[in-house]
Amino acid sequence: MKGLIRLGSVLFSCILGVPAAHAQAKPMPGADTGKIYERLLKQIDQVPIYDNHSHATFPDDSDMDAMASPPDESTVMRLRDTNPEFVAAAKSLFGYPYDDFQAGHAKWLIDKKKAAEKDGGTAYWDGILDKLNIEICLANRVAMAPYLDPKRFHWVFFVDSFLFPFDNRAQAAKNGDMGVYIPLQEKVLRRWMKQENVAALPRDLAGYEAFVRQTVADNQKRGGVAMKFEAAYFRSLYFSDPSRDRAEAIYAKYHAGGVPGGDEYRTFQDYIFRVLIDQAGKLNLPVHFHSAVGIGDYFSLRNGNPLNLENVLRDPRYSKVNFVLIHGGYPYTLEMIWLTAAKNVFTDSSLVGYYVYPSELKNILKQWISLYPEKIMFGSDAFPFNEAVGAEETFWLAVRSARTAVAAALAELVAEGAVNEEKALELARLYLHDNAAKLYGAKQ
Ligand SMILES: [Zn+2]
Repeated sequence: MKGLIRLGSVLFSCILGVPAAHAQAKPMPGADTGKIYERLLKQIDQVPIYDNHSHATFPDDSDMDAMASPPDESTVMRLRDTNPEFVAAAKSLFGYPYDDFQAGHAKWLIDKKKAAEKDGGTAYWDGILDKLNIEICLANRVAMAPYLDPKRFHWVFFVDSFLFPFDNRAQAAKNGDMGVYIPLQEKVLRRWMKQENVAALPRDLAGYEAFVRQTVADNQKRGGVAMKFEAAYFRSLYFSDPSRDRAEAIYAKYHAGGVPGGDEYRTFQDYIFRVLIDQAGKLNLPVHFHSAVGIGDYFSLRNGNPLNLENVLRDPRYSKVNFVLIHGGYPYTLEMIWLTAAKNVFTDSSLVGYYVYPSELKNILKQWISLYPEKIMFGSDAFPFNEAVGAEETFWLAVRSARTAVAAALAELVAEGAVNEEKALELARLYLHDNAAKLYGAKQ
């Protein structure tokens, strides 16, 4: 009798097109995937976004990032000026009347943005968020800008400069990229010193540690919701665990001058890195890592591989620190998602969401959703590429790509019988909004 009822309910479910409650998921989606996609996308477009990573900015604002683009001839195809999607973005956001960005046409767009910048006020960038249904947006910047509404844009500040307090001549000489990056790190460190009224480097390591901890605490008080390492651009993401005595000796030797050897500098950095992580734990401040490919002519894939961070992410001393692997570890997206198996490790789809086309982002999101859907967040990595194609257009590209890709990933999972449509929408909300809202919620 029991068996018959069960069989009856399976038949009933199949008739309605609802996946049977106890059936095995199919290895291929059915012919109805397109229709499911359309239904899901309509609802997913209504989900407000919590953007985990952006550089909302006008293109001439040097506070947009702690680094600058070095000479680079390796822009991926989708981000070249010739991508027609950027024209679509400008049309959708501003009613851009042209079909390309040739100089005379681009001027129309540049003038519009210059006028918004001159006008000041926060309405312009709030308006961009409204057009894209973005509720909250983390702004990864050296300092916040007066044109960003603090209710909508929350600050993520950089901490890499604390790793470079000594004579950096040997660091800057490593290659052309480092020649661009290192002076900017020195500039940010001087800025923190000025903020904290520290005229010169403290005499001993205890003083330097106190300065580092105080700056981070003050930045949190000034609205910082997370600290960010872009260390993958400068060195390996593998951080050893040196003793304080060793770090103290190196600081004593070089704080007043002298060029440290590569091993000595790295050892000191590894120690200060751990001071920063410890302080993040004490302040309940999430820690962001650039963990993916990067721009530049000398970016090391091996150094940027998120697996380098495993010893830190799995260190019981940091079990209360929330870590966020920005950019999904791309191209190591599968290795990366297994790092988020730890309860305090999260990731986002920033950068990868506009490096690849939505068809490929769909595959990546499908894998992530199938494994740890509570750990993944949307990130735009909105960034100005030039005077015409700005953070506005890249916000649009990232948002449209993510909404369509997650709808497609979930449509396949529904059509394969893995989840029903109600569950699919719940999963979409986790990715686009709820996971980030929960992670940063206390500070909203
Ligand atoms: Zn970024």
